[in-house]
Amino acid sequence: MLLKQHTTTNILSTTVLLLCCCMPLSLPTVPIPVHGRFTFDGNEFAGRDFGNQLHSLPWAVLHPKKVSDVASTIKHVWHMGLASAMTVAARGHGHSLLGQAQAPHGIVISMESLRGEMQVVIKGKSPYVDAPAGELWINVLHHCLIHGLAPKSWTDYLHLTVGGTLSNAGISGQAFRHGPQISNVHQLEVITGKGEVVVCSEEKNADLFHGVLGGLGQFGIITRARISLEPAPKRVKWIRVVYSDFATFARDQERLIYAEKTFDYIEGLVIVNRTGLINNWRSSFDPQDPDEANQFVSDGRTLFCLELTMNFNPDEEAHIDKDIESLLSELSYIPSTLFVTQVSYVEFLDRVHAAELKLRSKGLWDLPHPWLNLLIPRSKIHTFADGVFGNILTDTNSGPVLIYPVNKSKWDNRTSFVTPDEDVFYLVAFLPHAAESEGLQQLQDQNRRILNFCDSAELGVKQYLPHYESQEEWRAHFGPRWEIFAQRKSAYDPLAILAPGQRIFQKSI
Ligand code: FAD
Repeated sequence: MLLKQHTTTNILSTTVLLLCCCMPLSLPTVPIPVHGRFTFDGNEFAGRDFGNQLHSLPWAVLHPKKVSDVASTIKHVWHMGLASAMTVAARGHGHSLLGQAQAPHGIVISMESLRGEMQVVIKGKSPYVDAPAGELWINVLHHCLIHGLAPKSWTDYLHLTVGGTLSNAGISGQAFRHGPQISNVHQLEVITGKGEVVVCSEEKNADLFHGVLGGLGQFGIITRARISLEPAPKRVKWIRVVYSDFATFARDQERLIYAEKTFDYIEGLVIVNRTGLINNWRSSFDPQDPDEANQFVSDGRTLFCLELTMNFNPDEEAHIDKDIESLLSELSYIPSTLFVTQVSYVEFLDRVHAAELKLRSKGLWDLPHPWLNLLIPRSKIHTFADGVFGNILTDTNSGPVLIYPVNKSKWDNRTSFVTPDEDVFYLVAFLPHAAESEGLQQLQDQNRRILNFCDSAELGVKQYLPHYESQEEWRAHFGPRWEIFAQRKSAYDPLAILAPGQRIFQKSI
């Protein structure tokens, strides 16, 4: 590959790219007019991600100043056609696990450079915010709170970009009620693999709109998103109760997601082979009576911790406490394990960031993260729990294991996201870090054993945030939805320029 670059200035601070990659040398070199800049050195950040297992340097990084910079760059690569192997990946906050936002020898577009202008519109009963896709959710939250509003559906961690989570799904403990983040978007501005800027919604360019949501960056780069809002509460009652029996735990979780009057957030944690409880709890949960919580001895048993919140404003506290008491009275947790705390809404939503700061101070945040996220049909969750918790998974010392059910009715099956084929399915997330290479190997082996178990027991599991090596595996992942996924690829990114790090389609030159 023969590549060179010059930096020149004209009206637009144009960076001229001499893209000779696999092109006949007689082809003219073409300038890409951008208001931002390309960098060719110091791009190591774009070759890494949170997973910290796969690293590949791009040829260049675009730091766009305007949406038109993204469009011009993609259009340029599109016009080079199949004469060039050049690909383009949008990079949000780079919190992928296995190179999904990387573009080996290609161009990475640093979407965070387009952070900035957000607009909240309060129109009738459906307020929304228009946000740049490179914006972090934490900033979207703070901006919306100025207007007393907030998005409805979240991820557990808010230092992720809007475009990054909408390209996947965005799932957290509110999903049982509001669906994932991709179910809470009214409109997108997208740049397709041909460099066209398209505004899409349910009404306009609906196929692209649905395709891009959960579309793993395959059909276009999202540059703006219109996100549905609701009135923001001021405070949150945050509750944890513990079970030693999975069946009772799961029955209570399901009862709560079906109940008409219920909590605002429902998740759960698996605790295997730990002695205390408090130290297992990631994030900033700080029970009102930490001594009592510390006295709870798990004796290495496998335990299941139900995590719940109820939002409220200060004048509602008395009746909220009654509502909580009434809901808890229906549950069958171990009576001595009711732990409650109270925090601001922002503190609750940003809870994993508090854990991040602690882990960073111990040098544990930038380690490899061999995470595994699974979606498991409700009818198979007991088989899964029997086979995995306490058997394949023999401790949870290197990171939390989350488990909670969601309703499929809140997911839109016109999007690219594939779910198990049942009305309720569970998200089970194994979220360890590996302190040394031996530990990494062991955790990777454990993931393989879990996946093999799911396959051999025919559980009908789908992976979330998956990494596959071959198109065959992707076809199996999408199942009957593969045809439409592939059709959308040929319609919106026929040269397979976009998001090569997902390894679904390969640009053929
Ligand atoms: P990146 O890693 O930068 O990109 C992810 C993919 O999206 C890449 O293929 C990239 O090319 C593409 N992409 C990025 N921006 C755009 C865009 N604007 N347009 C089109 N494609 C784009 N997920 C959940 O659902 N729930 C959680 O609770 C949750 N918690 C997490 C906690 C932590 C600590 C971490 C590290 C991850 C968590 N995730 C969670 C996963 C997270 O949602 C995804 O990894 C997400 O992709 C990260 O966003 P990002 O901005 O870092 O995206």
